[in-house]
Amino acid sequence: MRVHAFHHLYQRRLAQSTKPFNARGCKVKRCQYCQASEQYCICEHQPKIKSDVAVMLLLSENEVFKPSNTGRLILDTVEEGYAYQWSRTEPDAEMLALLANEAYQPIIIFPDEYVEERSRLMEINPREYCGEK
Ligand SMILES: [Zn+2]
Repeated sequence: MRVHAFHHLYQRRLAQSTKPFNARGCKVKRCQYCQASEQYCICEHQPKIKSDVAVMLLLSENEVFKPSNTGRLILDTVEEGYAYQWSRTEPDAEMLALLANEAYQPIIIFPDEYVEERSRLMEINPREYCGEK
């Protein structure tokens, strides 16, 4: 199993927290990595997908503690992933440096029904980024 940026952020936030995060199902004994119930741990099934895509997750306060967070699953699948605690007033310097790095073309993945200015949308074929055409 590959330990990735989401797991590291989870551990950092856990060390900083002063009270337990009680999400629905908080009494379930969970795997610390996949957050599934220990008896249904999926860590050994973590895929290894070849891709040119890097993913950066920006997580709101306490979002990293939600056991159902799909961002964790996304970073389970891509080899290059980053996870940062979002702060509008104190953005992470490493995150800003990564966004300014010309080796990457940042694209925001967001439901298009919430985008007012349609000219800002682009259509992409996700299969192109996975080596498929
Ligand atoms: Zn697990």
